[in-house]
Amino acid sequence: MILIVDDKPENLVSLRGFLEYNDFEVEEASSGEEALRKVLKKVYSLIILDVQMPGMDGFEVAETILDYSKAKDTPILFLSAVNINKEFITRGYQSGAVDYITKPFDPDILLLKVKTFNRLFEQTNQLKQIQKTLKREIENRRELEKKKDEFISIASHELKTPLTSIRGYIQLLERLINKEGNESLKPYIAKVSSQINKLGDLVSDLLDISNMESGKMKFNIRPFSFEDMLNNAIDNIKQIFPQHIIIKNGSANVMYPGDEMRIEQVVINYLTNAIKYSPDHRQIDVDTILDENWLEIRVTDYGIGISKELQEQLFEKFFRVEESSNRFQGLGIGLYICQEVIQRHGGTCGVISELDKGSTFYFRLPLISVD
Ligand code: ADP
Repeated sequence: MILIVDDKPENLVSLRGFLEYNDFEVEEASSGEEALRKVLKKVYSLIILDVQMPGMDGFEVAETILDYSKAKDTPILFLSAVNINKEFITRGYQSGAVDYITKPFDPDILLLKVKTFNRLFEQTNQLKQIQKTLKREIENRRELEKKKDEFISIASHELKTPLTSIRGYIQLLERLINKEGNESLKPYIAKVSSQINKLGDLVSDLLDISNMESGKMKFNIRPFSFEDMLNNAIDNIKQIFPQHIIIKNGSANVMYPGDEMRIEQVVINYLTNAIKYSPDHRQIDVDTILDENWLEIRVTDYGIGISKELQEQLFEKFFRVEESSNRFQGLGIGLYICQEVIQRHGGTCGVISELDKGSTFYFRLPLISVD
């Protein structure tokens, strides 16, 4: 809808006729004041304004319209009997969609300008619409993300309680079985126990992630013997996976100021991944490189490996290599937690890998902790 504003009825008639002939819908106003009243009520795609009018002239009308937020994007085309000083039409009308044409107007040029402005107005509107939809979409996603984090937090807390009581009952059963000497039940209890431990690890990963998300992951920094921690972690893994050969090279004889349990968690995570993702190989290498300024641990397996394109995403939350995700169970949060732990100690994580050959996961810690 185009609004035409002119104080002379004959001009309105001829302009309306011309525009309607070219398929535009038109409304008219015979003074600046009437034009303003109309603009308050309705959004127009273009306003064609006569400059010389008694009362408010075209420029005054335009200035008022452009101050009014609902109409400030509406293009304005001035009609003037004399050549308009360019300063006039550029001053104050920053929206840019302002132009003029001199009377008597050339119909082809007028039509061209009307069409261009009309298209501009439509496109601006479409863009605004898209922007609105995108904003809504972003808000929705943020809301969902928040709900998901809350859910993970509640679910992991709720799961912890029954898990603790199951652990207690298993210990009771173990004691009873030992007392009664019922050997045949022992392997089953061991199996239940190991599955419960796995479940416990999953739940604590979930808890870690929800604490990380809400900035509540606490670090308990104090100097510890890195070498002892490393040996401890390797011994633990050896007990759980006795058929694997873990070869340790080098040593990390330093007192490291950090969160021992968290860093051990990273080592254990690297080691369990190395075992999990190399089902046909038994050897795992653990290399320790100690420099003056930093300490690096590398865990190498000779398993399925990861293609180059995917390596960058491995440390992202919930990322799992799709091709192998059916074969190996997991949530895709272990490495994400590892990265957070190492970064909070001022260090970096990384991977070197070749598909079907194996992987080396490493982390490097500065010897002066920054946390
Ligand atoms: P999860 O093992 O629970 O899926 P992680 O965060 O520990 O989660 O690992 C993310 C993904 O990285 C895994 O799903 C797997 O695809 C890949 N990955 C991790 N470690 C290895 C490894 N040693 N060899 C091959 N792929 C690995």
